Amino acid sequence: MNDTDYRGRLGGPRLESQLCDAKPLYTEAEAQVEANRCLFCHDAPCITACPTAIDIPKFIKQIASDNLRGSARTILSANMLGLSCARVCPVEELCAGDCVYNDLNHKPIEIGRLQRYAVEHALGRERAGGRKLFTAKPPVGKKVALIGAGPASLACAAHLALAGATPVIFERDDLPGGLNTTGVAPYKFKTEDALDEVQWLLSHGVDLRCGVAVGQDVSFASLQAEYDAVFIGVGLGRDRLLGFEGEGVWGATALIRAVKNDPEFRLPAGTRTAIVIGGGNTAIDIARELAMLGVPEVRMVYRRSQAEMSGYRHEMEAARLYGVQLIAELRPAGAVSEGGRVRGARFHHAESGDEAVLPCDLLVLAIGQDKWADSFDDALALHANGTVKIDPQTRETSIEGVYAGGDCVNGGKEVVNAAADGREAAFAMLSGWGLQP
Ligand code: SF4
Repeated sequence: MNDTDYRGRLGGPRLESQLCDAKPLYTEAEAQVEANRCLFCHDAPCITACPTAIDIPKFIKQIASDNLRGSARTILSANMLGLSCARVCPVEELCAGDCVYNDLNHKPIEIGRLQRYAVEHALGRERAGGRKLFTAKPPVGKKVALIGAGPASLACAAHLALAGATPVIFERDDLPGGLNTTGVAPYKFKTEDALDEVQWLLSHGVDLRCGVAVGQDVSFASLQAEYDAVFIGVGLGRDRLLGFEGEGVWGATALIRAVKNDPEFRLPAGTRTAIVIGGGNTAIDIARELAMLGVPEVRMVYRRSQAEMSGYRHEMEAARLYGVQLIAELRPAGAVSEGGRVRGARFHHAESGDEAVLPCDLLVLAIGQDKWADSFDDALALHANGTVKIDPQTRETSIEGVYAGGDCVNGGKEVVNAAADGREAAFAMLSGWGLQP
């Protein structure tokens, strides 16, 4: 293993490899049939629904004319994380949700699967020694420090590198990729694929330093002094646990990460009932994973009504197909333990206040995460909820020359929103230096 062999840092078989791909790669015939269904709309609503405004009819047309390299270039020049976004974007809520076929009572175009088809093939050919999709411009003498190696920083760094700047990413973890590596449901995107995408992004001239925590190993002030600009893309912190504790109590992101990346991790033998507290997409993801991994009874418990859940309806419906049950309007009140091991959870009914105890041998909290960014600099203005304040046009923070994007700004949205933030911050830096993207 060398220093940049991130795949090599993964251990042997992990639980995630047991979960099959929910939307497998199209065959050529499938891709052609689907691409030729597109109406190639003028003023296509699917483009405006995409946070990175990919020219969707154009890339689909390029697939239909068997120009996969051109198609991938169309996608990636708008969104350098076009591979992971093809796999993890909630297209039902974004581009495909706005496809004109919905108004015609027909199935919308499978934009995500077509995007995956084009990008996966084009990157595969490049990896096999084919012509590079993009070539970086000559150096322009500008250095940018990026904190955190998640989607926002990776997108920002890749766009900067292509424009001839020198991006250096500082990542506290051993593995780069942020949520794509540690937190995406394995039936959508596996860690190996996320790391391959990272390697490709780095190959344009991005320096990555893993295992370096800004604020501990290197100071924020020193980055400001040594670099022409700084980008904060640190994502979110640890799971909130509401004071629940005991063996068998997990934070949702910690458990998803264990399933994805820890070769030692197995669900305890005899795990029969899991309770997942929360109503967001992370709660739905881990509930579905547990059901797919064979836990016989998985219950999601949400404190409000089903209509008020922040998790997407299509994701909840998919989870139900694996047997996940949803219990609404129960507020969590505490864990029930025996000998330090969780045996259940107590709830109060949202209306009546009546107490209910639900038995379980695995209790997962998916009720949000802490924020990281407040530790960097007192001059960094934050919202009351701890997210970083930015100028929405440039992504510049309250500190001149310091930019931010992704979950630490939006509190936890999609990979595509982080990719858009990273790109816009890169473009704002370049424009401030009088350079073209
Ligand atoms: Fe194709 Fe649908 Fe977009 Fe029209 S709205 S261009 S049919 S994907």
